Amino acid sequence: TLTQRMTRIVKTLRGEARLTEANTQQMLREVRLALLEADVALPVVRALTARIKEKALGAEVLDSLTPGQALVGVVQRELTAIMGGDDASQTAELQLAVKAPAIILMAGLQGAGKTTTAGKLAKFLREQQKKKVLTVSCDIYRPAAMAQLKTVTEQAQTDYFPAQAEQSVLEIAQAALNWAQRHYHDVLIVDTAGRLGIDTAMMQEIAALHAALNPAETLFVVDAMLGQDAVNTAQAFNTTLPLTGIILTKLDGDARGGAALSVRHVTGLPIKFVGVGEKLDGLETFHPDRMARRILGMGDLFALVEQAQHKVDLQAAQQLAHKVKQGNFTLDDFKAQLAQMKNMGGLSSLLDKLPAQFQAANNPQKMNQAEGQVRRMEGMINAMTPLERRKPELLKASRKRRVATGAGVQVQELNRMLAQYDQMRTMMKKLKGGNLASMMRSVKG
Ligand code: GDP
Ligand code: MG
Repeated sequence: TLTQRMTRIVKTLRGEARLTEANTQQMLREVRLALLEADVALPVVRALTARIKEKALGAEVLDSLTPGQALVGVVQRELTAIMGGDDASQTAELQLAVKAPAIILMAGLQGAGKTTTAGKLAKFLREQQKKKVLTVSCDIYRPAAMAQLKTVTEQAQTDYFPAQAEQSVLEIAQAALNWAQRHYHDVLIVDTAGRLGIDTAMMQEIAALHAALNPAETLFVVDAMLGQDAVNTAQAFNTTLPLTGIILTKLDGDARGGAALSVRHVTGLPIKFVGVGEKLDGLETFHPDRMARRILGMGDLFALVEQAQHKVDLQAAQQLAHKVKQGNFTLDDFKAQLAQMKNMGGLSSLLDKLPAQFQAANNPQKMNQAEGQVRRMEGMINAMTPLERRKPELLKASRKRRVATGAGVQVQELNRMLAQYDQMRTMMKKLKGGNLASMMRSVKG
């Protein structure tokens, strides 16, 4: 039975009673790798691993856990804490309790998602908080940018303040503020122009806007896909402007979440929302625990592969190694790996390696959830054509929609699965053929 298998695995793996320098050194290196793979900026990784090490040493290893599991637990708790703790409500709240209209100033680079997010916030505030919202665009450099804000504002069914031609940025903002006061708007969202990179003129302009408007919230909008580069941008904006919060966009894509950790660590500001889609309903409150899991995803897979190596037979491993070396690790191979994991421990051992769920390893309900997850992953791969399985890069938006529909999942889940496949492929490439085979031999011997 599952429980028996669990017990056996736990017995063979059970280590010392406490985390020590000796039994965590190697694992801490993996944590470091996982953070880097998740796109956390290097200085942040250094600071974090030092902190994690400090917290980990001396921590108790519960009877049912291995030192590795205990460490992953520490890491996850620590990451969650750094990103604002378990209490999502605390971070998500916009502080708008000022004399109306409360002003929200949107700051960030071009393409970060400021205009889209302005629309999302307008909709959110109107629907969830019954606010009367006015938006205004101070992006005088690109007429299309103003038209874009007008469009999303209409979609949000809130009011849009049109600028006059020839008006300066400050004149536009002032005119919008007067209008909002006269028409009893609760909130004025001020969209600004971004540049492609940090640029003095842009910083001065937004600093002047900030000084003139005294906003209740000054939100730094940043693209999660920027990964490591998010840090420099965040630092530059944070030194120029008294920012009050962060919105991390494009988390529906393949972003690994490292930006969240980096930006939060560097600025110390709460992440108030995350963007999870181009549409106006693609706005979610930020969950530090979920993000920690996403960031640690890389580490999970590392452990999974390690475990798979204990069971997979040598020949299969060599074949796989060969494929990987040739760059031929396809989604079909990925599926075979999933099946193997399913066979080898009814998923209990797999569960065992998932930090988010390891405490629940004896919980049948959680176990079923994990089985279901793997089944859905297989379902998604089954819904692809043979060509797509060999060349997943073919999977652009419309194909993704078809596959997701075919498998009865959201595109987001498909993206997650593809990201996991990608991670595994990258990792297997790093292991290299020879290493994998020799590792297998040592395991078998
Ligand atoms: P701005 O230059 O900062 O105003 O950025 P925009 O709001 O114009 O957004 C740039 C691009 O990113 C647009 O194509 C948006 O549709 C897209 N975008 C913004 N937020 C998200 C998001 O959360 N997810 C996805 N997938 N796309 C987004
Ligand atoms: Mg814009």
